[in-house]
Amino acid sequence: MERIHCRECNELISSTAQFCPKCGANQIHVVQYDSDNSAFTNKNESTNQKPNIGLNIISFLFPFIGLILFICYNDDAPIRAKACGKWALFGVIVETVLTIVSLIIFFGIIGFVSGFSE
Ligand SMILES: [Zn+2]
Repeated sequence: MERIHCRECNELISSTAQFCPKCGANQIHVVQYDSDNSAFTNKNESTNQKPNIGLNIISFLFPFIGLILFICYNDDAPIRAKACGKWALFGVIVETVLTIVSLIIFFGIIGFVSGFSE
């Protein structure tokens, strides 16, 4: 059976009890509201909602994984999903630029070598 603390005397009581057996305080509504509220706040804001640095780095290095994370997190944690999507996009741009630069260098070397051998 799930146990909660009495809102008056902090005694551990059954979560389904309407009155505390020790002090007699009414537990309905207030306890329900408190436990639901804190559970939601802790779960959503401290773990799911905040952007995760590790996930951002993964999204940046592997934009495809970032895209998957973006789709997966979009419903549950939009803030984190947006951060992953943003870093994935940034990763795509950086990798495209690096590919173009390396192609330019590659063809530059080919041109230099073929010019040198003639
Ligand atoms: Zn009590």
